[in-house]
Amino acid sequence: MRTTLLVGNWKMNKTASEAVSFVRELLRTLPMSPAVEVVIAPPFTALQSVATALGPTSRIGLGAQNLHWEQQGAFTGEISGPMLRDLGCTYVILGHSERRTLFGERDEDIRKKVRAALMNELRPILCVGESLAEREADRTEAIVTGQVTAGLAALTAQELSTLTIAYEPVWAIGTGHAATPEQAVAVHRAIRTCIATTWNRETAEGLRILYGGSVTPQNAESFLSESDIDGALVGGACLKTESFATIALAAQKKRTH
Ligand code: PEP
Repeated sequence: MRTTLLVGNWKMNKTASEAVSFVRELLRTLPMSPAVEVVIAPPFTALQSVATALGPTSRIGLGAQNLHWEQQGAFTGEISGPMLRDLGCTYVILGHSERRTLFGERDEDIRKKVRAALMNELRPILCVGESLAEREADRTEAIVTGQVTAGLAALTAQELSTLTIAYEPVWAIGTGHAATPEQAVAVHRAIRTCIATTWNRETAEGLRILYGGSVTPQNAESFLSESDIDGALVGGACLKTESFATIALAAQKKRTH
């Protein structure tokens, strides 16, 4: 059984002090259930204050939005795995389409980051997804499975056991044009088949695959009720406590169906 995972990617939003009041409100309003794991990924600058606001026993996990693949050294402006672990992060989002398109991250960079995350006991959330042009050219499956195998190259099945994949069509991120649940399910199945073929069926069955791209309180249930969709990576709609809480409620319904 794969536990549903709901991840809020704050992107470059909220100062450290805004983050603290937000988290306090989130702790009051977010419906919690053992059936749904919730993780928030604030900007680096807010990780420390969010960790403190959550407290040591919080059921909300802490994630980062990126890391550098080296452990330390002369990499001005970068943040390493040990730094994130030290702040209490347990997850890290890697290969987000904004990192790929705006900051030129290549599959090879992402592969090194996935390795670095695992080395530091951070659970990677590997983001993959096709552009609109790639979808229109009927290349979705090839692009997405290519990103999966390149990002995870040379990892063992054991190493894959703590990893999550987020399928995020680039054209759906921040646009208000979510994929249909059918489109998402088709790609999730292709990813699972790719993992089964490249590694093995057991690894594929245990792997969580999230959908991301304009998930809202209105459409969350349509994605989360699909058995092939193990949770959601949420951008815009995680920045308001009410909308994130409504999505968390939809995630809880998934298991009570
Ligand atoms: C994201 O950035 O990962 C994302 C899915 O954003 P949004 O929900 O705003 O489309």
